[in-house]
Amino acid sequence: MNPTRQLDLTQKEKRQYKNKLIASSTLNEQTGCLEFTGAKNKNGYGHIWYKGLMLLAHRISYAVFIGKDVKNLCVLHICDNPSCINPEHLFLGTHSDNRQDCTNKYRQACGEKIGNSKLTALQVKEIRKIYSTNPIITQKDLGKDFGVSNITISKIVYGEHWSTAI
Ligand SMILES: [Zn+2]
Repeated sequence: MNPTRQLDLTQKEKRQYKNKLIASSTLNEQTGCLEFTGAKNKNGYGHIWYKGLMLLAHRISYAVFIGKDVKNLCVLHICDNPSCINPEHLFLGTHSDNRQDCTNKYRQACGEKIGNSKLTALQVKEIRKIYSTNPIITQKDLGKDFGVSNITISKIVYGEHWSTAI
């Protein structure tokens, strides 16, 4: 399993996703939010499945409607409504923005939990990146840095746990 596999949509797939997102959401006339009506995770974020990967609906909405690559960035809500997929209510944050935002009102927007994990999807990506690019860093070091066991780190770097969002 390749933990770094990316979302790579063709034009046709982008169109299909646009249609699917529009068909799976309703407009909240008071707020202008396009609220996703399909499956949601426990934090209220919409889910869409793509070739065995679970994608977060607001992230894919941003990717297909705005047309920007979101893979290393967090997609945040200006409306603070996790089910909203209105691309006009979404913006990209950098990893350091996320950290800062995680301490204030955007915490929910970037702190999506995977299962009952203590780690966010972004942290999982960071762990894989650090481990694959720093040969002297051990799984134990990473476990200490991220506050989880080295067994958890091992599962992450070998891809057992998180096959996650884009
Ligand atoms: Zn909204």
